[in-house]
Amino acid sequence: MNPLIYDFDFPELAARVKSWGEPGYRGVQVWEGLYRNLWLAPEEFSNLPKALRGKMGGLLAFEALRPVARHESRDGETQKTLFELRDGLRIETVLMRYPAREGRQARRTLCISTQVGCAMGCTFCATGQMGFKRHLSSGEIVAQVLYYARQLADEGEKLTNVVVMGMGEPFHNYEATMAAIDRLNNPQGFAFGARRFTVSTVGLIPLIRRFADEKRQVNLAVSLHAAQDELRASMLPINEKYPIAELLEACRYYVGKTHRRITFEWALIEGVNDTPEQAHILARKVKGLLCHVNAIPLNPTQGFAERGASRQRAKVFKETLEQAGVPCTIRMRRGVDIQAGCGQLAVRAGKK
Ligand code: SAH
Ligand code: SF4
Repeated sequence: MNPLIYDFDFPELAARVKSWGEPGYRGVQVWEGLYRNLWLAPEEFSNLPKALRGKMGGLLAFEALRPVARHESRDGETQKTLFELRDGLRIETVLMRYPAREGRQARRTLCISTQVGCAMGCTFCATGQMGFKRHLSSGEIVAQVLYYARQLADEGEKLTNVVVMGMGEPFHNYEATMAAIDRLNNPQGFAFGARRFTVSTVGLIPLIRRFADEKRQVNLAVSLHAAQDELRASMLPINEKYPIAELLEACRYYVGKTHRRITFEWALIEGVNDTPEQAHILARKVKGLLCHVNAIPLNPTQGFAERGASRQRAKVFKETLEQAGVPCTIRMRRGVDIQAGCGQLAVRAGKK
């Protein structure tokens, strides 16, 4: 298989083009073609001589992902694409459109995947239920964003946010995930601001600390879901290795290093973790920490019997937290009717 062009950062791409005997500025032209003009195939590079386009197409792969199915939610605001990778494995990417409201601009948020499947095995998550297949390369992560950036550009729109909350645990594939973000952030290319990315982790402590040390401007979300170890471990097996007290210590380290607010994610499960008691314990444990809780009623998945919290219970959970001094938002369910909601992404293994 030819190397994937999106797997190169700028210096690597420039060196590659130069090694073909091309002048230095050609590397810049290729980079700009990919990341500014969003060209997907060598034939589109109208800024290059024809021979070079042919060479590029012969030596490098441009097609990281092939869309094989597309689902749109009934309200038309959520769209999920199933992509086939070069080895036949499949991933999903979700676009969410949020209309403008109350002085807030309209948002076009893309939810991207970092792995095929996931090794973390969270019980309530469809990706976790399918197990781990492999890591995505940085180029495969980048390509999801470029695909949708191009689609939105064709519709006269723009991507405003990228959340790394699709299939997989981004901190288990740390290098590729950060390389993809850096590549999309490059001001000479796609120039997508670091603050418009949010990475969500199940709580891999050493990587949270590394992320903090790197002082990235990318937003960090941590999947907490429970305020006590026994309960959390029953939902998130990784809690056995990285228990809550140590996790929160790493979160405090992150906030101390970056002065950025951390988000805690909480999938509200009826009668399990949506109780005022959990809210009180959580509030006590995160006291003084610059944080915010993002709670969402659990989305249904095949392999998990429990139900999402009712609207009323979610409201009580939020109010209890807020009275105890912890800001909390209840997020709306999105794309549940097309299995594109949080934690609902899963594909059958292998080729069809
Ligand atoms: N692996 C990362 C990011 C992907 S999952 C992580 O776990 O943080 C994105 C978010 O969806 C996480 O907070 C995850 O716990 C949550 N999630 C998983 N399954 C869900 C479900 N069935 N309903 C609601 N949220 C879910
Ligand atoms: Fe993996 Fe996140 Fe799903 Fe857990 S919730 S199995 S870490 S994708």
